[in-house]
Amino acid sequence: MDEKKKVGVFVCHCGRNIAQTVDIEKLMEKVREKYDVELVEDNMYMCSDPGQNLLKESIQAKNLNRVIVAACSRDMHEPTFRSAAQEAGLNPYLVEIANIREQVSWVHDDKEKATEKASKIIGSTIEKVIRDEPLEPLKIPVVQRALVIGGGIAGIQAALDIADAGYEVTLVEKSPTIGGHMAQLAETFPTLDCSQCILTPKMVAVSRHPKINLLTTSEVVSVDGYVGNFKVQIRKNPRYVDVDKCNLCDDCTAVCPVVVHDEYNQSLSPRKAIYIPFPQAVPASYVIDEETCLGIDPLICSKCKDVCLVEAINFDMQPEIIEEEFGAIIVATGYDTYPIENIGEYGYGAHPDIISGLDFERLLSANGPTQGVIRRPSDGKVPKTVVFVHCAGSRDPAKHLPYCSKICCMYSTKHALQYKHLVHDGTAINFYIDVRTAGKDYEEFYKRAAEEEKVIYVRGKVSEIIEDGDQLLVKGVDTLLGEAVEVHADLVVLATGLVPSKGTQEISHLLKLSCDSKGFLKEAHPKLKPVESALSGIFIAGTASGPKDIPETVSQASGAAAKAATILASEFLEREPQIAQVDPTTCGLCHTCINVCPYGAIYLDEGVRRITVREALCEGCGSCAAACPSGSIELKNSTSEGIRAQIKALLQG
Ligand SMILES: Cc1cc2nc3c(=O)[nH]c(=O)nc-3n(C[C@H](O)[C@H](O)[C@H](O)COP(=O)(O)OP(=O)(O)OC[C@H]3O[C@@H](n4cnc5c(N)ncnc54)[C@H](O)[C@@H]3O)c2cc1C
Repeated sequence: MDEKKKVGVFVCHCGRNIAQTVDIEKLMEKVREKYDVELVEDNMYMCSDPGQNLLKESIQAKNLNRVIVAACSRDMHEPTFRSAAQEAGLNPYLVEIANIREQVSWVHDDKEKATEKASKIIGSTIEKVIRDEPLEPLKIPVVQRALVIGGGIAGIQAALDIADAGYEVTLVEKSPTIGGHMAQLAETFPTLDCSQCILTPKMVAVSRHPKINLLTTSEVVSVDGYVGNFKVQIRKNPRYVDVDKCNLCDDCTAVCPVVVHDEYNQSLSPRKAIYIPFPQAVPASYVIDEETCLGIDPLICSKCKDVCLVEAINFDMQPEIIEEEFGAIIVATGYDTYPIENIGEYGYGAHPDIISGLDFERLLSANGPTQGVIRRPSDGKVPKTVVFVHCAGSRDPAKHLPYCSKICCMYSTKHALQYKHLVHDGTAINFYIDVRTAGKDYEEFYKRAAEEEKVIYVRGKVSEIIEDGDQLLVKGVDTLLGEAVEVHADLVVLATGLVPSKGTQEISHLLKLSCDSKGFLKEAHPKLKPVESALSGIFIAGTASGPKDIPETVSQASGAAAKAATILASEFLEREPQIAQVDPTTCGLCHTCINVCPYGAIYLDEGVRRITVREALCEGCGSCAAACPSGSIELKNSTSEGIRAQIKALLQG
């Protein structure tokens, strides 16, 4: 015989949040009158200790076997009330939340109607709770090892933190060295410390850490599985130089006949087809660029191989597929800068002295193409007037990026200061829309530039940059004075915003991660889960999820590492059991559920010819249940029959 359902309803005032719009006394009366419930109680704050104690004591005193808390959204306090019920001996999956705050008090002001609606929501929730079955959380074994994708400062920090916590980490970087964009910067705002000096100790720490397996020139090619048990294939592309043998003698570059643009120096200087990306690269080894090297066919050229006394060069190296399992994944695939060649009126690419912010970083760097002396790319002269254009291609919804990248005002200010430090009699002019300095000590940094170091700030947008003799003419409008302004400059630096890197876009497809409207990876919740993706066990760090400076990138990386470590810390993971289940007796094997499942959780088990749910992968989203034409797949504790009863209760009240 079915047990009698003894439902207890607990109504929360949420201070005045609910009580000011819902008449609590009346609501309780209505619930008692209309529905078959054992008990109705209220409390000022059900989530408080007294509120939870009331719930626990009532379960025991009245032998309640179903509980409804009429309060805020499920996301807020469902776990709180479920654990309280569990402590009182009730299966936690027999507790339901009726949301009378977000769905009632916050969106209505007519007290009578709001109270009526709250009562209907409780009635509908009763229809659900009486059909709920007791469930047990799923237990999933965990592979206690992490994968970090992307070796910029975000990936480096995340890998070091996880490794320092005692877990093995594989760090996959697609280029020949780790370091990312930070390795290209000269000095960093707001302290102006040397970027390489603070970055390279961390790069070396990665290479020496016994728990970190560093794979450069490598890419993730497939990911299968689920939280705790990701099965990953990584393609390690050949670098054609044996890292262990290479002694960095440089004899190979001396004889290499192939000269190409050096991407590390933003194509402002050449490199050879065999090269080291920069002196402090990790791993410390040369690499052959297979796109341009002639020696990949040694019959044409093998000059580097011939001079390499330690026999480090091996043209026969082949791509290698490495298969590994991981419990958690951190995606730290970074950014690219907005392609300024898109801004025709600014003349990037058409004139060598119109350069980007990253180009300027390389001119400022001691290991850059001019050894840290600011020289115009056109004639090598030291520029006496430099114009820095903020928001180049940003905050321009009509034609370019609609958003602000947060860092460009700061890096342009930094550039102007660095220029003044190097060219004492030089003039630095910044064209800006507004100066945005949200960060610790950022406003002081800007004030120092504008007030103490005489950097000129002109409030206005640049409309055009044209060649004028051996100078450039920058045309714009000074919006404070309300008049047109024209400035002759020897060099123009365009501050472009950040866009998702190509690698970020690729990895989002591979891992099926959602992206926001700008193409950056989307967080599970922008405020409460900023380093989690919507997929369990996959975390996001750094600029892959949006423009950030280094401090924010590093703190996010440490946050993602801490989240990943909490997964790796246990041998088993518990997961919610409200997942899909198939009735094989009515299932027509039409595959609709397989096609609509966004998590790849459903498959046809060929052995038994049955549609099967991979329990650990199912997120309980219900897409399959909604799409199934025969109603053969349903979510546990959310059956179609139950949902119909809930709707009926809402409509009839
Ligand atoms: C001109 C300029 C100046 C700046 N100056 C400052 C400053 O002074 N102070 C400051 O705080 N911030 C500054 N920044 C911002 C700073 O560069 C970033 O905050 C920081 O570099 C972000 O690091 P990241 O690891 O998120 O990304 P990235 O540095 O972009 O690193 C991403 C890494 O992932 C790799 N990768 C990409 N896709 C894949 C893939 N699919 N598989 C494997 N690897 C992949 C890339 O090769 C790269 O190594 C500046 C930015 C610019 C443009």
